[in-house]
Amino acid sequence: MIESGARSEGITTIDLGYRSCPRCVAAFLVRTSEGPVLVECGPASCIDALRAGIEAAGTTLEEINHLFLTHIHLDHAGATGTCTRAGATAHVHERGARHLIDPTQLMASATRVFGDALKRDLGALEQSDESRIDSMNDNDRVKVGDATFTALETPGHARHHHAWLMETGGNRHLFSGDVAGMCLPGTRFATLPLVAPELDPPTWLQSIDRIRSVDADALWLTHFGLIERHGDFLDHVEHRLRSELQFVEELIKSQGDQASNALLGPYRAWHTQEARKHGVDIELLDLHCTDQHYQANLAGVGRWIEKRP
Ligand SMILES: [Zn+2]
Repeated sequence: MIESGARSEGITTIDLGYRSCPRCVAAFLVRTSEGPVLVECGPASCIDALRAGIEAAGTTLEEINHLFLTHIHLDHAGATGTCTRAGATAHVHERGARHLIDPTQLMASATRVFGDALKRDLGALEQSDESRIDSMNDNDRVKVGDATFTALETPGHARHHHAWLMETGGNRHLFSGDVAGMCLPGTRFATLPLVAPELDPPTWLQSIDRIRSVDADALWLTHFGLIERHGDFLDHVEHRLRSELQFVEELIKSQGDQASNALLGPYRAWHTQEARKHGVDIELLDLHCTDQHYQANLAGVGRWIEKRP
């Protein structure tokens, strides 16, 4: 992976410093012949870092006319209201669009999931004017100067998820949102956000296949950055998705009368051991995978088990 802030063919990775954690959440500034655009904008709590990253790249938030969102979870799209007020049009999955215009329901569900941590870690999504929200369907395209962005329906982590394929100058870049997992910085180890309420693992596996079939020249993860040799990495993500699901599902089934927070310890211990096998520094792992990450995954898989046919 390149260093955060470094540039590759007109793409700048901005490290938003989410929870003071380096290389956890990214936004991407992409240069086109018609001006800069953003892919992802990060949470509202990181707006200063977003502005600073854009300015360090020699432009301003006010000059951004297009924002491409992979989905509306607050770590990806929380700053949308600020970006659209500054003049951007946000291109987003049709199922997510209305929540950006009226964030009441989205913020209520985020409050249930994150509690007190919501304000501190993510901040509040502000509403966007309807005229600034462009509702997208599978294979819809947006042309900005010499770059074409194509929305690829990639559900599984969320039902309303698009990966964005950007084609420019003969190169094809894929921004995968959360579908290709989260890569621990400096490693090739992927971990998965298996969160409620829309987690659907079989569909997720199909979405990984779709990304694979695109055969892009470069893969960019929101968590985090450019992935080298991404064919191998996608195989690894698929393997991790299957093994993490299997472990969590068996853990939940063996739960008996234990309280659900009793599962956190065994889950964290197993995941730590898996990460160690891939040479991940455990301090780094703990910084990225907090108790909240494990709890959210346990709740997400638990809910999927209950509702699946
Ligand atoms: Zn995410």
